[in-house]
Amino acid sequence: MIIIDGSEGEGGGQVLRSSASLSLVTGQPFQITNIRGKRAKTGMMRQHVTAIEAVCAISDSSCDGLAVGASEITFRPGKAKAGNYKFAVGTAGSTNLVLQTILPPLLFTDGPSHITLEGGTHNMLAPPFDFIARSFLPIINKMGPKVSARLVRHGFYPRGGGKIEIEIEPAPLKRVECIDRGRLCSVNGTALFTGLPHDVAEREVKAAQKILDWKEHAIGVRQLPEDQGPGNILLLEAEYEQVTEVVSGFGKLGLKAERLAKTAANRMKGFMDSKAFAGPYLADQLLLPFALAGGGSFTTVKPSQHARTGADIIEQFTGRKFAFDQQDNGVFLVNLSP
Ligand code: AMP
Repeated sequence: MIIIDGSEGEGGGQVLRSSASLSLVTGQPFQITNIRGKRAKTGMMRQHVTAIEAVCAISDSSCDGLAVGASEITFRPGKAKAGNYKFAVGTAGSTNLVLQTILPPLLFTDGPSHITLEGGTHNMLAPPFDFIARSFLPIINKMGPKVSARLVRHGFYPRGGGKIEIEIEPAPLKRVECIDRGRLCSVNGTALFTGLPHDVAEREVKAAQKILDWKEHAIGVRQLPEDQGPGNILLLEAEYEQVTEVVSGFGKLGLKAERLAKTAANRMKGFMDSKAFAGPYLADQLLLPFALAGGGSFTTVKPSQHARTGADIIEQFTGRKFAFDQQDNGVFLVNLSP
């Protein structure tokens, strides 16, 4: 039994989700204590419970202690089975984080799966749908499987009610080298909003343009139907030959449109000025599939605490260590050591 301290490193939900995915793929049971020990509100939230319930539902795994608020669970993995599955996060919890938990084990099954997830699709502190669809999944597809995602309805905090659908065709995970991102092909951005004054989105576009100086109309405004809101997110995308970076700024009460847009635009500018293949979020999310492929490497910006923590969890389940080595051009080369 692997014992995980959920407060180590980043100490968030990722420790729990990655442990569950790795447990199912490697067949090793685990016990985790101090779940989300470094978060302001510790213990499992609804979306973490749904993620573990989903892992149990796609396999015959068992889990003791699973409940909202729980700080300790014991998980015994079964075997993942391909199928048609539907999970509702119940609140505006992130559907994309549930997907990231069940995707790795489903990539190791012997048939296609169809997944429907309901809840939040554009949540703060989680990958927005656009990031999953255009940044993360294309790399998974480079590794062999065919995974496609469709956004049926947007879901924002606190209302939720969003829906995504995913088709998964597994294939053995190949090692890939993701060193150069290639030429910049296009840039675009969208200030998505609903249930808020139009000028909030327009101010975001203006503030982002001031920093990025992309060509006129590269960043647009899109109003969603009222019943999908209220909500607001600024999405900035840079498509390179080999990878697409999606940077997001989440609107929230009390956060000025200009401030949100400035932070997101500066993040995008920082990425574009670097030579890295993966931005900070893609980097921590690629570690698990790369570990399961048994190797491969990619370049990234300075590794985040999420990336370092993800690497530690992977080492506990697989015995394999990731090295993060800074190169002369400033980027970090991430390699799974033999
Ligand atoms: P945790 O905070 O431990 O629940 O983990 C959150 C996960 O969401 C990490 O894997 C992050 O990479 C990912 N994430 C958070 N914010 C974003 C974002 N804006 N874009 C893409 N991924 C994100």
